[in-house]
Amino acid sequence: MNTAEATQHYFTKAARIMNVGERIENLLSAPLREVKVQLAIELDNGEVRTFTGFRVQHDNSRGPMKGGLRYHPEVNGEEVLGLASLMTWKTAVVNVPFGGAKGGVQVDPTQMSLKELERLTRKFVDQLHDVIGPTRDIPAPDVNTNPQVMAWIMDQYSKYHGHSPAVVTGKPLELYGSRGREAATGRGLLTVCREVLRDVGRPMKGTRFAVQGFGNVGSHAARLLFADGGVIVAVSDVSGGVQNPQGLDLPALFEHVRKTGGVKGFGGGTPCGQEELLTVDCDVLVPAALGGVIDAKVAQSVRAKIVVEGANSPCLPQADEVFEKKGVLVVPDILANAGGVTVSYFEWVQNLQHVSWDEERVNAELEKVMKESYERIGSISRSRQLPLRTAAYVLAIGRVGKATVLRGI
Ligand code: NAD
Repeated sequence: MNTAEATQHYFTKAARIMNVGERIENLLSAPLREVKVQLAIELDNGEVRTFTGFRVQHDNSRGPMKGGLRYHPEVNGEEVLGLASLMTWKTAVVNVPFGGAKGGVQVDPTQMSLKELERLTRKFVDQLHDVIGPTRDIPAPDVNTNPQVMAWIMDQYSKYHGHSPAVVTGKPLELYGSRGREAATGRGLLTVCREVLRDVGRPMKGTRFAVQGFGNVGSHAARLLFADGGVIVAVSDVSGGVQNPQGLDLPALFEHVRKTGGVKGFGGGTPCGQEELLTVDCDVLVPAALGGVIDAKVAQSVRAKIVVEGANSPCLPQADEVFEKKGVLVVPDILANAGGVTVSYFEWVQNLQHVSWDEERVNAELEKVMKESYERIGSISRSRQLPLRTAAYVLAIGRVGKATVLRGI
């Protein structure tokens, strides 16, 4: 089962429990618009190459559509569709006035120069500027895209439509970005971890975390959990992994990554394979790299008692079943990593109002949203005896479904 099928599975499971009926079920799961574009650009060596790009706009009943843009060789239309629908449920879970979308370009950005990436990004906007926009669809960073890519999107879009900072979020601070956006997904995850640990009666201090992925989500999550008293026993990225049962020296690891570009080879621990990281002895596992990494087999070997999904769709439904049987608590992606889209919403609001919030305000508002969302989901989970993931989908489908019906079909 791929990540798109997994999202559909979770949606259907919750929709059936809610008894929304086949008609509404079909209406809510089908995407509004799927766009596939060919992006021909000139490489630095004069050669012309064509890349394939996607933007799927899933649902706009609660507001303009919102979702990241990823650059990865394995991007495909089906995956983007699954991630777009995940965004619809995520924005609804945290109750920000957005729908869901997602984009991607089939490219290995590590093989491209900065200038080539800029040309590719601008070409993507050339092909899509008619269907995105501050009141239509607002992209954001995702795997292998960053504030610089968002700055190019803003600049290129503004050439067509006039100065439009609100067309994209996750921009650099100097170009209408929001304070606190860079760390927002990790910070939201920290709040969720604090709430879960409080509920299970564990202090943060001394709780052992393993984090897969050391990019935007994983590195900020690890840094903030460490600063809050958590012990980071294992970390990995695409280069490799490192573990230390006594806890990794995070500042030294950051220094190593800054110097070498990856986690591999860090001297403060022993090497750790990708699957080994997921099954390492820890209390909380934070998969924060790519989707689909935890299937039933891996889930059997996971030793953590709590899994907090930093990435989108890291656990497949078969893994969820294993976790349910084993009594492992899974905090779903549509809550655990919703800090990013929440602060993206704050960025959009600041852009539309031409104001700039200080970081304390951003962080305080984010914490409030994450706590409220966690409480709402927890209360549905307790009252209806549902796992947190199903409870989150119940909350989201209720909100999107009501908006759809109220607007009129
Ligand atoms: P990123 O590109 O900044 O980082 C990805 C990290 O994963 C890198 O450290 C990379 O080396 C690592 N990685 C790649 N393949 C790996 C593998 N096989 N094993 C271990 N590590 C591997 O991306 P990101 O923005 O941190 O996104 C990570 C995940 O979080 C994605 O699923 C993304 O959709 C999701 N997400 C991101 C945000 C955000 O604000 N950036 C918000 C919500 C969800």
